[in-house]
Amino acid sequence: MTTLITGGAGFIGGHTVLAFLDRGEIPIVLDDLSTGSREAVPSNVPLVVGDVGDIELVSRLIRTHRIDAILHFAAKIIVPESVADPLKYYLSNTVKTHALLQAAVKGNLKHFVFSSSAAVYGNPSFTPVSEAARPSPLSPYGMSKLMSEYMLVDASAACSLRHMTLRYFNVAGADPAGRHGQSTPGATHLIKVALETALRRRPYMSIYGSDYPTPDGTCVRDYVHVSDLARAHLSALDHLRNGGESQTLNCGYGRGYSVREVVDSVRRVAGVDFETRQAPRRAGDPASIVADSDQLKKLGWKPEFDDLPKMIEHAHDWEKKLTAVAAAREQRSGMVRFADNSNYAHAAVP
Ligand code: UDP
Repeated sequence: MTTLITGGAGFIGGHTVLAFLDRGEIPIVLDDLSTGSREAVPSNVPLVVGDVGDIELVSRLIRTHRIDAILHFAAKIIVPESVADPLKYYLSNTVKTHALLQAAVKGNLKHFVFSSSAAVYGNPSFTPVSEAARPSPLSPYGMSKLMSEYMLVDASAACSLRHMTLRYFNVAGADPAGRHGQSTPGATHLIKVALETALRRRPYMSIYGSDYPTPDGTCVRDYVHVSDLARAHLSALDHLRNGGESQTLNCGYGRGYSVREVVDSVRRVAGVDFETRQAPRRAGDPASIVADSDQLKKLGWKPEFDDLPKMIEHAHDWEKKLTAVAAAREQRSGMVRFADNSNYAHAAVP
């Protein structure tokens, strides 16, 4: 029994790899390293650098490693980017998932756990939103995930594959032990952007929209700690391995925070003030979305970090580390630059 984790060098996939290791199971990672990094994969975990849409490669991996389960994280995840470049999202998130499923079906794979998103709901008419709500995505990102959900449901109905689809709400935080965190440059997600601003890596941050029908006019989201989300995948996989039926489940805490509440919490945790600027609404953003995750809890999922300041604190610790690494790199490149020019070599700071 071996698990293949696509996107295991990235943020959520990487934390899930750690959750596997923490319970003594070594998975295999398939990642093209387009946004993930080699260093994120622990040295005892085999890393295959390749494309999830490469049917031959995935078929070979299923055969040679006797893979019984695929956890599919590899995807593009930025809502506004998907609005600007929808075909990139349909290729990465839908077409490649189709290829991966083809390899899975061909290889008689037993279990498939799919990373979906609350973005499939769009602007739900009820909140908290349960899985029974009718999906109505507002963005190509949400639609690209929903199309994959449908393919997975239909493909599993036609063969022996069983699946769990997890619809993630807003994923944040970092490994409490400091082993992993969100490292992708050019971040767009709220908590990371706010922390980068608190750490003076950005001069200010924008708050997108102030006229939403929410208590303070900014968007409300359900922020879930990445380590809790990683463990949700173990619950989902165990459910399948124990013979459970295919299901589509929400993963969030059932509590919403506005953009302003999150920014204020970042200020408190980081202990610094920073500038925010009001900006127009961002394309594809629903006003408010909060999860009803009762079904996932019934599977035995027990969140440990349902605490916004704690989540921000873990992410803050990680960001401080990234800031220190970037500063050290800059200092080294300064030394190289100066060392190239003997006139200025004395200016190199050790
Ligand atoms: N947001 C913001 N400023 C930022 C980044 C995000 O005001 O620099 C808002 C965004 O418009 C949304 C919320 O924060 O209302 C959460 O956005 P994020 O990109 O973190 O996640 P999404 O909900 O899009 O998956």
